[in-house]
Amino acid sequence: MRTIDRMVAGFRSFRAIYYEQRPERVASLVEGGQKPEILLVACSDSRVDPAILMNAEPGELFVVRNVAALVPPYAPDGHYHGTSAALEYAVRDLKVQDIIVLAHSSCGGVSALVAATKHETMPDREFIQPWMSMMAGAVGDEEPAKASQDTLRQSIRNLRSFPFVQNAADLGYLNVHGWWFDMKEGALYRLNEDDGQFVRIE
Ligand SMILES: [Zn+2]
Repeated sequence: MRTIDRMVAGFRSFRAIYYEQRPERVASLVEGGQKPEILLVACSDSRVDPAILMNAEPGELFVVRNVAALVPPYAPDGHYHGTSAALEYAVRDLKVQDIIVLAHSSCGGVSALVAATKHETMPDREFIQPWMSMMAGAVGDEEPAKASQDTLRQSIRNLRSFPFVQNAADLGYLNVHGWWFDMKEGALYRLNEDDGQFVRIE
């Protein structure tokens, strides 16, 4: 069976679980609107799907995914800022209580950035390098796992450069979390913003 056909079968299974076995859950989400408490910024990587990793249900996570789970700096310049738009909607309209930025090991976007830092020959891409270049100052000549932790530290600093994020955090309405997923070990780490260290979540 081709994967695309398995996705269609997967949808039938989803429909059976949520529309036939638990219709009240769907009805309340449709009629009452979404009220997620968490915004999660994750990587587009097919191996780190937040809903699967967190065992989340429909309505629980407001998710924005991009290459390498980066939060860009606050830049209200009228350009096309997809991640910033999702952040604005989640914080100002949905009023989420927590923001998680979820970075991970073996990240292709970070590997491209590290290769560029070392001036290694890279495939010529029109959008990946400019996107990753926002982290050029955060990453040195280091191995990719360390580099992805450095990009996560910088994403958290960038997150706090949005006035509506920092204001809500200062007022105690919003908590900011940097999480790092070690894909090989199956372990989750939490960034301690005070000392910049990662602590394993048991
Ligand atoms: Zn990634």
